[in-house]
Amino acid sequence: MHFLSSLLENYIQNNSENEPDILKELSRETHLKVVQPRMITGHFQGRVLSMLSKIIHPKNILEIGTYTGYSAICLAEGLHNEGQLHTIDINEELTDFQRRYFDQSGFGPQIIQHTGNALEIIPNLDKKFDLVFIDAEKREYPKYFEAVMEKTVSGSVILSDNVLWSGKVVEPLNEKDQATRVLLSYNQKLKEDPRVETVLLPIRDGLTLSRVL
Ligand code: SAH
Ligand code: CA
Repeated sequence: MHFLSSLLENYIQNNSENEPDILKELSRETHLKVVQPRMITGHFQGRVLSMLSKIIHPKNILEIGTYTGYSAICLAEGLHNEGQLHTIDINEELTDFQRRYFDQSGFGPQIIQHTGNALEIIPNLDKKFDLVFIDAEKREYPKYFEAVMEKTVSGSVILSDNVLWSGKVVEPLNEKDQATRVLLSYNQKLKEDPRVETVLLPIRDGLTLSRVL
C-alpha cells in the first residue's frame, strides 16, 4: 500500500540506509519462489525496524510471523551480543528457506525458529522480551497482544504491523471484512490500554509502537 506518492517514497528510501545485499537477495528469492511476496517487509520499513532495534539494543526479541525471514534479520541487527530472537510461523514450508538466510546473515546461532500457532507457542516461552514484532494473522492481533504482554517487562516495546490495512481503517466498513473490524478495535484498544503508551506511525502499511509502562 502506498500512502505517499512514489516520488516521495523513492526520495525517502534514497535518503535512508541502503538495503543490505543479503536482504536484496532474500527479497529476490521470495518474489521468485514463495506465494504472496507482498507480505515481505521491504527496504525502507526494514531499515526502520533495524534502526529501532539498534536503539533499543534488546537482549530478547519475539517475532510473530516470520514468513521468509526478512524482518527477523532486520530486527536481529540490533540484538545484544548474547541476545536471542525467537520467531514463530505456522507455515512449516518456510523453515528451511528462513534458516538458509539466517545462517548467511551471521545471526544464525542467535535466531530460534518456532513452527506452529503463535497462540499456542507464546505461553510456553520461558523468557521476557524487550522487543516484540506482531506481524501474523490480523484477526488474531488482540490475542497476540494479550499473550505477549505476559512476556514483557516495563520498558519493553511492542510493534504491530499493517495497522492501517491499506487505508481500510478509514473507509466504510464492509460487514464481512473481519480483519478490518478487528484492526479498528485493536488500534483503539492500544490507545486506551493503561498498560502501554502508544503511537501509530504512518510507515508503509502502518506500524504501531507501544511501550509497556
Ligand atoms: N514478518 C514478515 C512477514 C510476515 S507475513 C516480514 O516482514 O517479512 C505473515 C506470516 O504469519 C505468514 O508467514 C503466516 O504463515 C504467518 N502466520 C499466520 N497465522 C499464524 C499463526 N497463527 N501463528 C504463527 N504464524 C502465523
Ligand atoms: Ca507486515
